[in-house]
Amino acid sequence: MTDTRVRLNPLPISATFSKDPAFWGADFHPRAIISGRGAYVWGDDAEKYLDWVSALGANLLGYGNAEYTERVARQVKLGAGFSLPSVLEAQVAEKLAYVLGEHVPGWSPENVGIRFGKTGTDATTMAVRLARAATGRNIIASSGYHGWADMFVSVTPPAWGVVPGQSIVDFPFGDIVALEGAFRDYAGVAAVILEQPMQDPASGYYAALRRLCDQHGVLLIIDEVVTWPRYGLGGACERYGIEPDIVCLGKGLGNGIAISCIAGRRELFDWFGRDDPVFVSSTHFGEALGLAAADAVLDLFGEEQVAQLWRIGETLMAGLRQSFGYPNDAGVDVTGHPPRSLNQFTSKAARAYFIIGMRDRGVLINRPNLPNLAHTEAGVVLTAKAAAEVMAEMRHIDVEETMRGRLPRVLFEGR
Ligand code: PLP
Repeated sequence: MTDTRVRLNPLPISATFSKDPAFWGADFHPRAIISGRGAYVWGDDAEKYLDWVSALGANLLGYGNAEYTERVARQVKLGAGFSLPSVLEAQVAEKLAYVLGEHVPGWSPENVGIRFGKTGTDATTMAVRLARAATGRNIIASSGYHGWADMFVSVTPPAWGVVPGQSIVDFPFGDIVALEGAFRDYAGVAAVILEQPMQDPASGYYAALRRLCDQHGVLLIIDEVVTWPRYGLGGACERYGIEPDIVCLGKGLGNGIAISCIAGRRELFDWFGRDDPVFVSSTHFGEALGLAAADAVLDLFGEEQVAQLWRIGETLMAGLRQSFGYPNDAGVDVTGHPPRSLNQFTSKAARAYFIIGMRDRGVLINRPNLPNLAHTEAGVVLTAKAAAEVMAEMRHIDVEETMRGRLPRVLFEGR
């Protein structure tokens, strides 16, 4: 039956800002996605697109991976939410403790504690609460984006609705002297939280960071919401030799189904099990679909898959670089690391023109390139060819003039 009611349009914007079409371009289509298979998605405009954003990095295995889908579907039949913990909670925690314990520098499986949440913000928020409780201090030194919780948003504006004074200070990544200054200026720093960004720090930075934290009794939280397991089974910590106290995992852990966790030194996690615990609890934490998804990811994504992701990411970066041409005068560049690179544009107009030109050639690409296991060299060839064509156009037109009034919305310039 046709619904003849008036369209109410109650959504001001999509639930995830950067998925909204407005963040891709003015009047961008497709407006929404109907389905995905492998490296491709089908839009509500009935077109098929090669997708390099991979659900903002959550899609690790490729859309519709057969074994993953089968295992999650089996769990749907068994049930998702129960009145006692799902048997999967302890099982997945055990697997994670082995994976992280064997790959994160300074850790061993028997010394790892785990606690599950649903989103990346859940993980970073619970890590901070645990650190504050364990150190008896308040101040958090933060670099980069860590989710939408009050304290993080207070240093990554816009921060409408956030009460000032969240006991958090922003520090520049890579600058040990600045962090030392923050430790001096703010008595009572509980933890440092950061993620490995697109640019590598000077050599010795992470070792100096660990030493500085130890000297001041400050806990080191590494936000691996994007980087694990893209950078390795021990995340960026393994690749850069970082010895963290707590890591935060999200995105790829459930391959598109919401599940996140923190992991860290076992004795810290005793705080959650006390009679007067660090209070972190929610109805859907430990929900079984997310756990089944993570269980499958842990079985399907190993060293070989990390290497595959790096290989295809390297091929993509090289292909894009070649198409962009170096140096180029069209304001387009690609930086970062193979499993997570960033297309950089010197103007919003260049960004908009590029994104729309790629879309017209069947490629969904925006700022972050986040390959998944379904991407192929053939997909890279198609992408590089499309990029070369768009770049050729950009060299011969006035991009600013062409895109006037058609610019995408941008919240975070650095992402
Ligand atoms: N930490 C980092 C590094 C992120 O990139 C994000 C999200 O993009 C988060 C935390 C927050 O995760 P979520 O959006 O799942 O709450």
